[in-house]
Amino acid sequence: MFRFVGNNPITGFDVLGLWNTCGHNSLINSAFGTGASDGFQLPKGDLNQLKNASHDVDSGPGSQEPANAYQHGMSSPGEDPARAKADADKFIADQLKSAIDAENQGKHDEAMYDLGKGMHTIADRSSPSHRGEQSWPGMGITHWPNAAFHAMRELWPSRSKRNEVVNNPHDYYNSFQNGCDGGGQ
Ligand SMILES: [Zn+2]
Repeated sequence: MFRFVGNNPITGFDVLGLWNTCGHNSLINSAFGTGASDGFQLPKGDLNQLKNASHDVDSGPGSQEPANAYQHGMSSPGEDPARAKADADKFIADQLKSAIDAENQGKHDEAMYDLGKGMHTIADRSSPSHRGEQSWPGMGITHWPNAAFHAMRELWPSRSKRNEVVNNPHDYYNSFQNGCDGGGQ
């Protein structure tokens, strides 16, 4: 029997997205944890903000609705994939700008949280099954077997896939750092 939590019968599953919460956290650890490459090892508090933000993108009100599909690198039914891509690009850019603004105001935790939301979209859209912002049918129960399979299939990315996927969050973090170093607005 399913126990529904919001729109999401299985807590922690990112139905629209590439990874479930554990998968997202694993990628954040790979990109910014103790084993991360030089210059990308962040304090635990920063990691937690990134993880909280990622979790909230998947679990907040309406987070798994088709209208918010772009936040997971997907388009909603009938939507022009180019439009979904543009929405995702804008979301990622807006989160970066918010993060830089917050950091410049001394609100570091808030900055990391904003950055984490943009990073979630970056991670989701890097899935092979998401490339091209493919359409997602939404949250009808009839689609659940496919949704669950989709989530399970990509639960744990291979090591080589993870290495590929961490490069994009690293670029994003560099943009954040450069924006906060007085390198312009
Ligand atoms: Zn997602």
